[in-house]
Amino acid sequence: MSRHTAFRYCLDPTVEQQTVLARHAGATRFAYNQCLAIVKTALTRRRTDPEHPVPWTRFDLINAFNTWKKSAAAAPQDHGRWVGIDRGLSAFLVAATGDGREVVRIDNPPKPPAGGLARQRRLAKAMSRKEKGSRNRREAAARLARHHHRVANVRRHFLHQVTNQLVKIHDRLVVEDLHVAGMLHNRRLARSIADAGWADFERLLNYKLQWRGGTVVTADRWFPSSKRCPACGTLNPGLTLADRVFTCPCGYRADRDLNAAVNLAAWPRLRRQDPPRSPDLRAGGRVINARRQEGADRHPMGAGATGPDDAGTKASIPIGM
Ligand SMILES: [Zn+2]
Repeated sequence: MSRHTAFRYCLDPTVEQQTVLARHAGATRFAYNQCLAIVKTALTRRRTDPEHPVPWTRFDLINAFNTWKKSAAAAPQDHGRWVGIDRGLSAFLVAATGDGREVVRIDNPPKPPAGGLARQRRLAKAMSRKEKGSRNRREAAARLARHHHRVANVRRHFLHQVTNQLVKIHDRLVVEDLHVAGMLHNRRLARSIADAGWADFERLLNYKLQWRGGTVVTADRWFPSSKRCPACGTLNPGLTLADRVFTCPCGYRADRDLNAAVNLAAWPRLRRQDPPRSPDLRAGGRVINARRQEGADRHPMGAGATGPDDAGTKASIPIGM
């Protein structure tokens, strides 16, 4: 009869060994993340092309990873290229390069903890029922404040994670001018947009990329990022919010959010080819970002690069940050 015995050892590596171990751990994590990205990209493709293979088995995944390693995509070529970020409808965010490659997809923002909005309403109501100045009311107010705090923490953590992920791999980003105020009139969308905290998102993205010497530009509000075909340039004006797949008479098909991200990535190039005929009148003065690297004042491309515009205030003061 055999008996199994487990021993635990405490490693005491030298500095060199520590480096090697850390490198192994790093490589494992990198491979894991890359495989995850491969599967997620394949799943996105399958939305428009049901035949597209998804590497479900370990064998398929190893093959897919090896194919990817040999492909041009494996080279860290995103530095110096524009990456468009679409604030998706079905996804929280999709980032892609101009040649149609999806580089990041974040499906859902985290759910607010413990009941979320319903709990918030209940706590607020409970507080309003308590007599003013009473100890009960103070306690109810503290419970409500703790709930607010937890919700805010979850959201902030999420936004930091996402922006970190983006600025680590890409140094030239294009975001859309969502015209938050206008979107809020659409009542079905209002809550989700407010929850997503896009103004915060853009603020974080801006300063993090600035630390790294990168650039964020905001596409013109009127740039039809979701209605344009990146393959032939034709507009599809009939596209509605309900359409999750973009189709073009030229045969091009893509997930709606991915398509918008691809168009956004192409925006800086399109902008140079077709400069605006009239100055942009909507902002209360042109905001020139001090770190803008795109030559001088030929077009107001950097005009939206600062955050306050999207937070609903008019950005008439240049923000140096
Ligand atoms: Zn087309």
